[in-house]
Amino acid sequence: MTRNTSLPHWLRVVVSLAWLALASQADAQTLNPVRVSEHAWYVQGDSGMASAANKGFNSNAGFVVTRDSVIVIDALGTPPLGEALLTAIRTISSKPVKRVILTHYHADHFYGLPAFKAAGAEVWAHQAGKEYFGSGEAAARLAQRKQDLFPWVDEHTRLVEADRWLDGPARFEAGGLHFRIDILGPAHAPEDLMVTVEEDGVVFCGDILFAGRIPFVGSADSKRWLAAIDTLMTLKARVLVTGHGPHSANPAADLTLTRDYLLYLREQMGKAVEEMVPFDEAYARTDWRRFSQVPAFEAANRINAYGTYLTLERESLAR
Ligand SMILES: [Zn+2]
Repeated sequence: MTRNTSLPHWLRVVVSLAWLALASQADAQTLNPVRVSEHAWYVQGDSGMASAANKGFNSNAGFVVTRDSVIVIDALGTPPLGEALLTAIRTISSKPVKRVILTHYHADHFYGLPAFKAAGAEVWAHQAGKEYFGSGEAAARLAQRKQDLFPWVDEHTRLVEADRWLDGPARFEAGGLHFRIDILGPAHAPEDLMVTVEEDGVVFCGDILFAGRIPFVGSADSKRWLAAIDTLMTLKARVLVTGHGPHSANPAADLTLTRDYLLYLREQMGKAVEEMVPFDEAYARTDWRRFSQVPAFEAANRINAYGTYLTLERESLAR
């Protein structure tokens, strides 16, 4: 620990011990997979933002055990969490992890990839994710994570790019099961995709749906997002495993809530943009009672409304 050389020896020992304690805490993360169908499981992260308190465990990841391999969907938000996910998979199956499919390149879904690369898995993602690495966004996010999620994310954390960049929908068979990949982005992220396990009627849809809560919309392209929800609805999934929060055993109801909320945001903010009503005034006069009791309303609604207001301003200028 070269950065501590100016400190007295005893203090260096204390710092090292504290660091070790934190590191072993990181190692001690135990994940409990939830089974959603004959072949599919997922682990569910904490409902808040990624933080030191939840050690970066704020998102979900899934896996499907086939006759001869394991297919993983998303890899969680830190390298130790990737290892913990692999350990959790090993409590259920010893078959090789053949592939990890990323629903999108957000830090909370892919920092766990190194464990899977080390285990010999190949990584698939949609090619729009390439831009994430080229744009500087990836480096900026990593710097923030090193600050906020140390020691779970540190100077050794390596960002793993896909081995195969998909340029459209895909299908494959693994150990007797049929998988379908549909491209949904740009919606929540430019490279959103979802994975269907056809025999089980299970769909892993990433952050397109936040079950039972108000979604985080921000500056997302809500028009495309709505189209993605319509696509999801046509699949008539039995179970939807989302990127955050509990899985949905009633996809139609959860999708309807998210869709109605996005439509309402767009309708109300669209009217304000058209009438050139300033945002604060528009927000204050909108009747939010229909959604104000839904979880995460307080935390997300105002910023969602503002993001949508700006999006609709852009859309109206582009017309
Ligand atoms: Zn995301």
